[in-house]
Amino acid sequence: MRLAQRISRIKPSATLAINTKAKELKRSGVNVVNFGVGEPDCDTPESIREAAVKSICAGQTRYTPVGGIDELKDAVCRTMKADYGLSYGLENVLVSCGGKHALYNLFQALLDPGDEVIIPSPFWVSYPDMVELAGATPVILRCTEENDFRLTPSDLEAAITPKTRLFILNSPSNPTGKYYGEKDLKGLADVLLRHENVLIASDDIYYRILSGGRKWINIGMVENRLLDRTFIVNGVSKSYCMTGWRIGYLVGNAEVIKAATKVQSQSTSNPTSISQWASVEALNGDQAHVAKMGQLFEVRRRLVLDRLARLPGVTCPEPDGAFYVFPNFSAYFGRKYNGHEIKCSADLADFLMEVAHVAVVPGVAFGEDKCLRLSYALSGEEISRGFDAIELALKKLS
Ligand code: PMP
Ligand code: GLU
Repeated sequence: MRLAQRISRIKPSATLAINTKAKELKRSGVNVVNFGVGEPDCDTPESIREAAVKSICAGQTRYTPVGGIDELKDAVCRTMKADYGLSYGLENVLVSCGGKHALYNLFQALLDPGDEVIIPSPFWVSYPDMVELAGATPVILRCTEENDFRLTPSDLEAAITPKTRLFILNSPSNPTGKYYGEKDLKGLADVLLRHENVLIASDDIYYRILSGGRKWINIGMVENRLLDRTFIVNGVSKSYCMTGWRIGYLVGNAEVIKAATKVQSQSTSNPTSISQWASVEALNGDQAHVAKMGQLFEVRRRLVLDRLARLPGVTCPEPDGAFYVFPNFSAYFGRKYNGHEIKCSADLADFLMEVAHVAVVPGVAFGEDKCLRLSYALSGEEISRGFDAIELALKKLS
C-alpha cells in the first residue's frame, strides 16, 4: 500500500513503544521494572474522579464547544493568574486532547514548509516528528552534559536564521529534568527580543514538579515583551496524575488560538466532555495532592541518584524537576555479553530489557545517544529492585 510521504519522515513515539513492550512482557509473566514510562504512578485523586462521575450523571456527555467549555477555560485563566501572575481571557485558551495535541495544533496553525523550528536537545521525543508532520524543518541544537544540558544564549543566537519561525523550550525538561531559572531565561529572552519573527513554544507540562524549593518561572514571566509571541503548553496529565484523561491546553495570542481551534474543529472536535469537567475540579479544587506527589518524587529522586552514583562509569547531572534522570552510560559501549554487543543506547536498552528485565528509553530517541532515560515514577521498592538488576546485568558486560 502506498502511504503518504510524511509517514516515512516520522517514527512512532519511542516512549510509548517502550511502555507497550514493557506491559506486554509483564502480561506474559515477566516481572519487568518499568523505568520507561513518563507518567505518575499514583491514581487520579478521588475528588477529580468524583467530579467525572457527577458529570456523567448530570448528562454532561454531549459535544462541547470545540475549544473546550468556558468553565475549564476560566479555570485555566485563573491558574495562569495564580501560578504565572499572567492575565489571559477565554479567547487566549484552547483546550485539547492532552498537551501533545495542544502542541500538534499549534504547529499545524503556525508552520509552513521551509520554516525552521529550533529544538534544543536532549528533547522530548515528539517535537521533531510533530514539526515534520506540519511540513516544517526541525533544527536540533545540541546541549551537552558539560553545559548541564541547558541551552546557552550564544548557541540560540547562532542557530537563528531568517527562516526560524519557532523555538521550543521545555522546562523542567523531559528527559533531563533540567530547569531554566530566571538568569538562564533572561539570557535567552535577550536573544529573542532581537529576533522579532521568532515565536516561542513554552512546554510547561512539568511546572508543578520542581525539586529543592525552586520557584516556577517561564520565559514570558521573565520578559513580558515576549508574551504576545509566547505560546504556553500545559495540561493536567502530570500534575494531577491524569495521563489517561487526555486534557491539555494552549495559552497565547488570540488569533493563533483561533487558528489552532480551527485545526481542532476539523480533527478531534472537542476533548472528552467528562474529562473536561474532571479537569475543572483538578484546577479549581484542593491542590494538596500536588505537593504530596512532589514530596514523593523528591524521595525517589534521591534514591535514584544514589543508586546511579554506585554504577561504575555512569555520570548524571541532577534533575531539578519532572521525574526523569538522563544518565550517561556510554562507558559501557563497546562491551559484549552472550550475543549482545553494546554499540549505542538502543543496544543497551535492549540488553537491559532482556537480561535485567528493566525497561528504559534509549537516549537516541531524545537526540543524545550516550544516555538512557529513566523515569522514577515508581515505588522505592521497584526502584531498588530495578537498580539491583541493572547492577548485576552491567557486571556481565565485558
Ligand atoms: N510535553 C512533554 C515534555 C511531555 O513529556 C509530555 C508527556 N507525554 C507532553 C508534553 C504531553 O503530555 P499529555 O499529552 O499527556 O498532556
Ligand atoms: N511524556 C511521556 C514520556 O515521555 C508519555 C509518553 C509520550 O507521550 O510520549 O514518556
